[in-house]
Amino acid sequence: MSDKYAGSTGPTTRLNGAPVPTEQHSVTNGHQGGITLNDVHLIEKLAHFNRERIPERVVHAKGAGAFGEFVVTEDVSKYTKAAVFQPGEKSEMLARFSTVAGEQGSPDGWRDVRGFALRFYTREGNLDIVGNNTPVFFIRDGIKFPDFIHSQKRLPDTGLRDANMQWDFWTASPESAHQVTYLMGDRGIPKDFRHMDGFGSHTYQWINAEGERFWVKYHFKTRQGWDFLTDAEAAELVGENTDHSRQDLFEAIERGDYPTWDVKVQIMPYEEAAEYKINPFDLTKTWSQKDYPLISVGHFTLNRNPRNFFAEIEQAAFAPSNTVPGVGFSPDKMLLARVFSYADAHRYRLGVNHDQLPVNQPKCPVNSFSQDGYGTYHFADPSLPVHGSNGAGRGPVADQASSAAAAGCPVHSNHAGRVDATTYGQWDNVGEEFYAGAYIQHPEDDDFSQPGDLVRNVLDDAARDRLAGNIARAMAGVTPEVEQRVYQYWTNVDEWLGAEVEKRFKASK
Ligand code: NDP
Repeated sequence: MSDKYAGSTGPTTRLNGAPVPTEQHSVTNGHQGGITLNDVHLIEKLAHFNRERIPERVVHAKGAGAFGEFVVTEDVSKYTKAAVFQPGEKSEMLARFSTVAGEQGSPDGWRDVRGFALRFYTREGNLDIVGNNTPVFFIRDGIKFPDFIHSQKRLPDTGLRDANMQWDFWTASPESAHQVTYLMGDRGIPKDFRHMDGFGSHTYQWINAEGERFWVKYHFKTRQGWDFLTDAEAAELVGENTDHSRQDLFEAIERGDYPTWDVKVQIMPYEEAAEYKINPFDLTKTWSQKDYPLISVGHFTLNRNPRNFFAEIEQAAFAPSNTVPGVGFSPDKMLLARVFSYADAHRYRLGVNHDQLPVNQPKCPVNSFSQDGYGTYHFADPSLPVHGSNGAGRGPVADQASSAAAAGCPVHSNHAGRVDATTYGQWDNVGEEFYAGAYIQHPEDDDFSQPGDLVRNVLDDAARDRLAGNIARAMAGVTPEVEQRVYQYWTNVDEWLGAEVEKRFKASK
């Protein structure tokens, strides 16, 4: 469709293809008369203009993206049968990077987590890995997500963002400490989208050709090198250019400086989940790389800019529910909430047939009994039945062998209940599903050990110093009550850090 429009030298047309006589003058009743309703070009032009904007994403509204290629250079076939991960396989792909809390038009340089969404157009359907530039997240249960985002967005009366509201939520949600340590550290303002790592963040499931299951975490390591901006550098840049990350990505690709990330995974044997020191399905935790070292898979390179930002990036409908045979979910409550939420958001923003838009179309055949709805573009061969379970036995049939891939959704028939996700049900396989029985308490499931480890053992002195300064600056405007909770929160992470934050914030008042 785009080619019909690009480079056209003919007259401008209405959307029905008919030429228009002028783009300058409306039809009026005489020289100074009213405009007429039968000026269909005018009416169409204004009406379409009024409808140009669609609902922006509630989160990750501001972003940039590009197309590329994923190449598998290693052999991980003993862990997954997914075609996209087989040795030598090359797949077209799309990446979209974003900030989280800001709206369309917000500055790229704000301190925020960065979205890191990948789509692989595989032979077996689209695989989307929709992660962030951090390996963890603020919460571990999707039921808190709207509350969390409300606290990071704007107050209802002033329409302003509010540090007090942010710290109030974080300190009342101690599981956020690991992610907030990242956010307040150097990695909270990556220099741009090219100079940051990505993570699938959640635990997923891989299934090999023999039906064996593994737990997997994805890591995407930038070959451009990690780089960040200090608070002061970011403030200056934001004043000059609100779109620097979007611009940097686009211009790098235009000049042929294609950004590349190495794709690595951590693999946990299925049975080890029950015994591991932390709940491996808790999104606020990492799996230590000393226990589960990174395994190389291949790399992806972004080498093609979108030709139309709206059509190809704004309408890109990434969803963790887009899985392929050999890849499944885990009992990670945040993941399972997102598996519903993302596809639902696209139905709202783009319509029920968003999969039919060119950027979202799988590059393999789609044989579905779903039909009709707004924006239908594809339809099935009319000689085929419109319903499954047809007596004639014609049309597409389900492939039972693929079910293991989609499996892994924990269902809980007899024991349904609400539990803190630091504990989780003793899972087991019942066919392709899990059920929960006795709860497991993992020995190191507290909220503060891992961020404490990050502060004490991963950061160097200079990074620790910047962390304390960034936290104190980000506290501007908190109430005395929240202020006390913030000191306790950071003391729980690390005693030095708690004392340092208190000292610096009091000095700044
Ligand atoms: P390791 O020493 O084996 O791994 C440490 C990890 O920390 C590396 O992946 C490294 O990534 C990353 N890292 C280095 N500098 C920073 C920084 N300034 N901010 C954030 N991350 C950084 O230790 P463990 O795997 O046992 O993890 C220890 C702690 O490290 C965890 O509690 C967690 O906070 C943090 N971490 C762990 C990750 C994991 O997947 N296990 C991933 C990232 C952080 P790089 O090579 O890119 O510098």
